[in-house]
Amino acid sequence: MLELKGKKVLVVGLGKSGLAAALFLRRKGAQVTVSDIRSAESLAKDIPALLEEGIMVEAGGHGLLTFRRQDLIVVSPGVPLDTPELVQVRKFGLPIIGELELAARFLKGKILAITGSNGKTTTTALAGEILREGGLPTLVGGNIGVPVVSLIEESTDETWSVLEVSSFQLESTEQFHPAIAVILNITPDHLDRHGSFENYARAKERIFAAQQPNDCVVLNADNARAAEAAVRSAASVHWFSLEHRVRMGAWIQDGSVVYRQAPDGEIEQIIPLNRIPLKGEHNVENVLAAVCAARLAGVAAAPIRAAIEKFQAVEHRLEYVATVQGVEFYNDSKATNVDATAKALAAFSSGIHLILGGKDKGSDYTVLTQLLRERVRAVYTIGSAAAKIESQLRGVVSIRSCETLSGAVDAAAASAHAGEVVLLAPACSSFDQFESYEHRGRVFKELVSQKASGKIWQNV
Ligand code: ADP
Repeated sequence: MLELKGKKVLVVGLGKSGLAAALFLRRKGAQVTVSDIRSAESLAKDIPALLEEGIMVEAGGHGLLTFRRQDLIVVSPGVPLDTPELVQVRKFGLPIIGELELAARFLKGKILAITGSNGKTTTTALAGEILREGGLPTLVGGNIGVPVVSLIEESTDETWSVLEVSSFQLESTEQFHPAIAVILNITPDHLDRHGSFENYARAKERIFAAQQPNDCVVLNADNARAAEAAVRSAASVHWFSLEHRVRMGAWIQDGSVVYRQAPDGEIEQIIPLNRIPLKGEHNVENVLAAVCAARLAGVAAAPIRAAIEKFQAVEHRLEYVATVQGVEFYNDSKATNVDATAKALAAFSSGIHLILGGKDKGSDYTVLTQLLRERVRAVYTIGSAAAKIESQLRGVVSIRSCETLSGAVDAAAASAHAGEVVLLAPACSSFDQFESYEHRGRVFKELVSQKASGKIWQNV
């Protein structure tokens, strides 16, 4: 185990997980400094607690000397590994790890880790519920909003830690070793940070880099890039598929999710499709993945089914908001890339009024062309990506340039007829106009509820 007592450790980035890591390291007896490029004012709410614990804080930029003085550097997932100061000290051989790696070195019990371009949070939450229902001592954390270091204290040798892990977190892992690793799908995302699709895909594959033959990896047989990862895995490979039967894993047969653990094993009926409360085929994929992982963790079919039947959409993931004058409103603010938007469109057969836009991530919106032609009545653009979206989709679909979310909700609500759908699935990140996708989703829901209660609309 990593010895921290008396060591000089720098935490780079004071997000939720950076804060948790700094406090953990201090409790372990390290001399901790935190460095963040944000100003002291914007970090004001966390600084007093850190100083009180004897943690030093460097705000408003990184000092190279601060970095060079350390024995270990812990990087928050939001901080790119090519940050100049990190590149510099790496040359001197200073160990640099992420919060996930730090936590994994101390976490007791077994890890079920879930990654993918889309569906991580939904599948992690669902798998956590299933393991709990199956009576396993379960903790849930990671990218889902609970820093992994904060699970350490509660973990025991019997614990299953169900972790949502992102490509950013995986980039800085070394010994991170899940007993069960799931790759839901790999489709283009975050190309602005990873540089190329292949770099991004390789970062996701790091989820199984430390696995051994008695570990398991669960892969999506229908997603070419995720399936291809199998050739580089040392673990036992299990599959899920919406389209066909698999050797070992979960698929759809006669309107039900079924599973078999071994190629010659019994095919178990898990749950009929019409008992799954989530909307969209993509959520059936998430269910298949969670079923596989849970069976591999030893949960029986009955508690798996019971947990799925009770499960509700996670907020901002194709979340039903309200019906106003016969028009249904759905909040999929978490659709921050083109693939997630495509999945959201596929969940409705026609009559969609789609709100698109925000901060572009280098995406190709023409991927949506066919779905737009088939199912979408009009697109309402918002944010800084609007011009790019409009130029790529001109002639494909009717486009209204709205600039703000309130303008878009207004315009969409005015155009939609009873029986149609207004869908926020913007295919972009939110940071040009909002603090986060959660903020964007909450504003959308507020606008819809004002509409529902007949209040006057205001610009937000
Ligand atoms: P993540 O944590 O990977 O971002 P979420 O569960 O938060 O995943 O869902 C993110 C977005 O992707 C939402 O818009 C959701 O509706 C959509 N989505 C969920 N599961 C899938 C999937 N299996 N494939 C594609 N899109 C999905």
